Amino acid sequence: MTVQRRVTADPGEEIQRDVRFFAQNTTFERLWPQIRTRVGEVFANGKFSHGKQVAQLEQRLREYTGAQYVVGVNSGTDALVLLLRAAGLKAGDGVIVPAFSFVATASAVVLAGGVPQFADIDPGDHTLAPEAIDAAVTPASRFVLPAHLFTGMADMTAIGEVAARHGLVVLEDSAEGIGMSRLGVHAGLHGRGGVLSFFPSKTLGALGDAGAVLTDDPDIAGRVAALRHHGRGGRTLDHFPGIATESGLIGTNSKMDDIQAAVLLAKLTCLDDDIARRRALALEYETGLAGIQGIRRRPVLGPGDVCYVYLVEADRRDELAAYLAAAGIGTEVYYPIPLHRQPCFDSYGPHPELPNAEQACTRALALPLYPDLEARDVHTVCARIRRFYAEASA
Ligand SMILES: *Cc1c(COP(=O)(O)O)cnc(C)c1O
Repeated sequence: MTVQRRVTADPGEEIQRDVRFFAQNTTFERLWPQIRTRVGEVFANGKFSHGKQVAQLEQRLREYTGAQYVVGVNSGTDALVLLLRAAGLKAGDGVIVPAFSFVATASAVVLAGGVPQFADIDPGDHTLAPEAIDAAVTPASRFVLPAHLFTGMADMTAIGEVAARHGLVVLEDSAEGIGMSRLGVHAGLHGRGGVLSFFPSKTLGALGDAGAVLTDDPDIAGRVAALRHHGRGGRTLDHFPGIATESGLIGTNSKMDDIQAAVLLAKLTCLDDDIARRRALALEYETGLAGIQGIRRRPVLGPGDVCYVYLVEADRRDELAAYLAAAGIGTEVYYPIPLHRQPCFDSYGPHPELPNAEQACTRALALPLYPDLEARDVHTVCARIRRFYAEASA
């Protein structure tokens, strides 16, 4: 998120303000009164853990997503680890994951005791290519874990068919997926379960880390609820009856803080407005970037998509990013290294060549997009990009 000060200004150019890639604080300013009230309730109740706010948030998220069960945890990463364990992953089980994603998609598999098996992506939407599952599957494969990235979901219908053919259980890394749906079903509910991340930069961001597991399966929900709290029930678990007070599983401490739940309850009230705002800004980009030769791919927003990240594929990506940084415009590279080339997964190789994932890593660039960004900021970014390629071809 480094935004360098502008080093060059064209003479006679109107003063342009910097465009940050993301501003964690501004997204809270509008909601500060509600957040203050909610957080004040946590303080007044005198219960900062095992309080009421987490259970309330779980209920609200059930309504929002349509999930039968929502279990709040302390991060999207822990949600993935606990979901994999609760879904029955055993040591050494293979989990097919896309080679282009945030590192946690694959590291969660290792943390849960499994073996990540990398598969290539669809070059169009950057998500796991259903036909790539055939190439990645081995006798050890037991799960497939597609990730929904940036604006849209992986093709869950096709993935479900391939998975059924190989007898694989489908789970979803829907950490980026709040508000996304296909065929009327929210992200995370197309297989046995999925997750949400409330990392501050996500579409629904907390004032720190938080996450959740979504599932329609009562056994998975009950196991996640136990695993997040040392393998046993607790006072927040009234809505997960069957959980014993003794520890039947080796659990951990992955509970969501009540303060984060309070913040998220306040932010949920404007989530749909924020999502609409993101879509409006994405349309500004759509118009502003039209016809620029160096921009090879732009997001195509279908119904049920949510613009969490506005990701383009750009020629001379690194030069473009440096040019924008010099003009005071922040960008991010999501994701710089394909997962099968990350050193931490070396011992799970040898890995196959996965050309679509490799290529996405050399071209992908995320542009500023968050609800409080102004349309004129988007216009500035587009004008700069246009100028970069015009200068390059001059
Ligand atoms: C953000 C993210 C995660 C991890 O979520 P945290 O809450 O940061 O732990 C996992 N997978 C994907 C695809 C993500 O974008």
